[in-house]
Amino acid sequence: MSSKKKIGLIDVDGHNFPNIPLMKISAYHKARGDDVSWYQPLFSGHMDRVYMSKVFSFTPDYEYYIDTDEVIKGGSGYCISLKDGKEEFDKTKDIPLPPEIEHIYPDYGLYGITDTAYGFLTRGCPRGCDFCHVAAKEGKCSVKVADLSEFWHGQKNIMLCDPNILACRDWKELLQQLIDSKARININQGLDIRLMTEEKAEMIGKLRVESVHFAWDKYQDKETILPKFRQFKEITGWGARKTSVYVLTNFDTTFEQDLERIYTLRDLGYDPYVMIYDKEHTKGNDPVRLLQRYVNNRRIFRTISRFEDYDPKKG
Ligand code: SF4
Repeated sequence: MSSKKKIGLIDVDGHNFPNIPLMKISAYHKARGDDVSWYQPLFSGHMDRVYMSKVFSFTPDYEYYIDTDEVIKGGSGYCISLKDGKEEFDKTKDIPLPPEIEHIYPDYGLYGITDTAYGFLTRGCPRGCDFCHVAAKEGKCSVKVADLSEFWHGQKNIMLCDPNILACRDWKELLQQLIDSKARININQGLDIRLMTEEKAEMIGKLRVESVHFAWDKYQDKETILPKFRQFKEITGWGARKTSVYVLTNFDTTFEQDLERIYTLRDLGYDPYVMIYDKEHTKGNDPVRLLQRYVNNRRIFRTISRFEDYDPKKG
C-alpha cells in the first residue's frame, strides 16, 4: 500500500502575494512524494491533511467545509488580532514551521513564479513599536535565520521580507550576499534609518534596487534621524524617487508635526508617503485623509508646495 498522502493547501488571504510558508510546505511534501494541490471544495475530494495559512488578521477565515482527516492552521493572521487599535499576539495560536520545512527551498511553482525569490534572511526587531507585532512574535532581537542561497537560486529578482535587517549583527555579511547576487532587490519592509552608518549606506548604495523606503514614525526621533537621512543622501546620491519615507499619522503626533515631517523630508530630497494609523475609523474629510491625498499623489505634491494651497475639489 502506498504511503503517498493527499495534501491540500489553502491561502486564506487569496493569491495576491505568494504565501512563503505554503510554498515551503508544498516543497517539503513534494520531496516526500506526496500529492500536493490547492484545496478546492468541489473538486479536491478527501484529503489526508489540509494546511491553511493566513497572513493578515483582517482577512475573514475560510468558511467552507473541508473534507480532510486533519487541518493545520498557521500564520500571523491567526495569532495576531487588533484590540483597541493595537496588534495583540496570541502565542498559543502561533505554530512555527519545523526546521526541516522552515529551511527548505520554497516551491515557487505553486504560484507559477519563475523570476523572483521570496524570503527572510533575518527575523525579529529590537524596536517594539506599539503599532507592530514583530517584536512580540519574532523576538526583540534581529537574528540571522538563513543565507540567501536557502531561498534564492539565481532568480533575477529578490523580494526580501526582513523586518529590520540593519539591526542584525550579521548585517554586513547579509548585505554582501545581496550585493553579490547582482539580482534586483526589493526590501519590502523597509530599512531602519536610525541604524544607518557610513558603512551601511555605502553597502546599500551597491545594491541593485529600484528604490528603498524608510519610516519616520515618531516625531521625537527628529534629532537623531535627520543627520542619518542627510548622511544617506550624501553617500548614495540617490534622488527622491528612489528614496521614500513612510510618515505615520493619526497615531501619536499632531497635525503640525505631521506637516513638519513631510516638509522636512521633502527639503532633504526624500519622497514622503503618508500612512494613516487605523484608517478604518477615520472619516473621509478628516485632515489626515486630505493630507494623505495631497502628499501621496506625487504630481500634486510636486506642483503645490504648501498643504494650505491644496484644494481637493480641484484635484
Ligand atoms: S521598527 Fe519596524 S519592524 Fe521593528 S517594531 Fe517598529 S515597525 Fe515593527
